[in-house]
Amino acid sequence: MKSGPNILITGTPGVGKSTLSQLVAERSGLEWVNVGDLARDNLFYDGYDEERQCPILDEDKVLDELEDMIAEGGKIIDYHSCDFFPERFFDIVFVLATDNTILYDRLAARGYQGKKLSDNIECEIMKVIRDEALDSYVKEIVHELPSNTPDDMESSTEKIVLWIEAWKRDNGS
Ligand code: ADP
Repeated sequence: MKSGPNILITGTPGVGKSTLSQLVAERSGLEWVNVGDLARDNLFYDGYDEERQCPILDEDKVLDELEDMIAEGGKIIDYHSCDFFPERFFDIVFVLATDNTILYDRLAARGYQGKKLSDNIECEIMKVIRDEALDSYVKEIVHELPSNTPDDMESSTEKIVLWIEAWKRDNGS
């Protein structure tokens, strides 16, 4: 039996996935798995994307690594894309959304500029990751959460922690 639900937190870079994942992990006891860090630490890469200025993820190696964690349960998976994760991985999916002017400032503060910055803003405006999630999972488990202010962060944390507690009660874990 799984020790807890598996949750996906996704969205464009800068929307607050890591901040939210960490808060939820602290308050729920679930384990935060940052897929970007996992790939970097294990060199799960398959080349370099010059245009996007980032390494290309070796999705098969990432999925192999995640398989046992998912079977164990109680994981918060944090990544800025989601279509390569199998549907069976997650009990619920949260897509964070940020107004583009706010996101612009966050990404500029992170040092993004030029095409990398504009591509990410466009990704958010076009709701690319939200649509990817809706295409990849049954729509009943996909929830969009605003992530513009610290109040948004607090209310999303609370909402998810309550959902986890309810899941554990319902599933006797
Ligand atoms: P991601 O993991 O999606 O790339 P981060 O969690 O690293 O995003 O957040 C990027 C930056 O934006 C951080 O400085 C974080 O403090 C800030 N941030 C994220 N979400 C919010 C929010 N809802 N309100 C205020 N600041 C936020």
